[in-house]
Amino acid sequence: MSKLHSVRLPHFSASAEQSTRKIPAPEVVAISMAQHIGAPCEPCVAVGDKVKIGQKIGDSEAFMSAPVHASISGVVKEIKDVMNVFGRLCKTVVIENDNKNEMYEELEPPKCDTREDFIKAVREGEAIGLGGAGFPTHVKLGYDKSKVNIEYLLLNGAECEPYITSDYRELMENSDNVLAGIDLIMKKLEIPNAIIGIEEDKLAAIDKLTKLCVRYPNIKVQKLPSAYPQGAEKVLVHSLTGRVVQEGKLPSDVGCVVMNVSTAGFIYGYIKTGVPLIRRRITIDGNIVNNPANFFIPVGTLLHSIVGFADVRKQPDRIVLGGPMMGSCAFDPDTPLGKTNNAVLLFAETVEQKPTNCIRCGRCVRACAANLMPTELEQAFDARDVNELQRLKVNLCMNCGACSFVCPAKRNLAEKNQLAKDFLRAATAPKK
Ligand code: SF4
Ligand code: SF4
Repeated sequence: MSKLHSVRLPHFSASAEQSTRKIPAPEVVAISMAQHIGAPCEPCVAVGDKVKIGQKIGDSEAFMSAPVHASISGVVKEIKDVMNVFGRLCKTVVIENDNKNEMYEELEPPKCDTREDFIKAVREGEAIGLGGAGFPTHVKLGYDKSKVNIEYLLLNGAECEPYITSDYRELMENSDNVLAGIDLIMKKLEIPNAIIGIEEDKLAAIDKLTKLCVRYPNIKVQKLPSAYPQGAEKVLVHSLTGRVVQEGKLPSDVGCVVMNVSTAGFIYGYIKTGVPLIRRRITIDGNIVNNPANFFIPVGTLLHSIVGFADVRKQPDRIVLGGPMMGSCAFDPDTPLGKTNNAVLLFAETVEQKPTNCIRCGRCVRACAANLMPTELEQAFDARDVNELQRLKVNLCMNCGACSFVCPAKRNLAEKNQLAKDFLRAATAPKK
């Protein structure tokens, strides 16, 4: 198997061995109708409505979508457009907590007799990729069996960015549900094999899951090299099976379905209880946090509630949602956290490093797992050269940030690629 390009990152994982805690219930949550990739939902509640935990508050008829549920009980105070961390306005339902903590009475385990029932239930439960991508899981599982032959369910437990340990805690605290979820998906979709990929530095999780897998002969645990970006979908498929997902193709084209370990654990819990995805585990860490740990937060918790709750030595001057490699800096303390947020990192005394001229060292090229030429892509974007950006295949960039990380000239290569993709999309869109 050929070796993919990768980088070694420092291992900051101070929260890894702390059990997950709960934050106090927030007074208010703001739940975006766009928690996933695909069509946003439309609210199915109105201002003044009383809602309970787990009650549906938004849905869409689009296939590429997933419903949204209330994460606290209370009253719908407002429905308004809120700017998310990527600068996009999203319709958002604001719920004021009545502090009664009431569950919606109609929640019950979904009917799950056939493959179709199961996929429908996964959609109703609001399952999406919890690793950060937010791809609706029912779309991933709803592949056309007559067109693709799925041989492997691949579970992403790589968690390769520094600081983030939420999937690791899922593997340590909810391992029975993770394995039962994998087993359930395999049975419902008739997938013969499953492989859980875990980076080699997470020895306790590897050990625990390997022992538990004795009960599941078709599920195996595979150690992954501790190299970034091991958790990227195409990289994971290659590392676990040796198969290559070609440009424009999906993992299903090479017989694989990839899912995050936390998503598998959630699906099993939902099928047993009927409680949809209303909370998630996030890592709170950073250079000013005294006690880094993981916390369960209701979906829609506002960032300032987290910052107010975190045990910090001083006020942060930079807040990153997600990991330091692929996360985004938050610009508004009222930003609501969604289902795809796996970390809040709080930093102070960060130093802005000014880019200098490229010294043509080639490190960015050697770091790129997608085999791209980041330095040439940067020049093509600076020249707004559509043909060159297409020739250099900027659309294959995963925005993993490895090129920027290794660049001694501190050039913002990954950021430029993100801008270049947006530019190319706009430049090649059909004229209206
Ligand atoms: S950000 Fe894009 S160009 Fe840079 S290393 Fe990652 S995939 Fe390659
Ligand atoms: S790593 Fe930086 S300095 Fe080296 S070739 Fe790439 S852009 Fe230039």
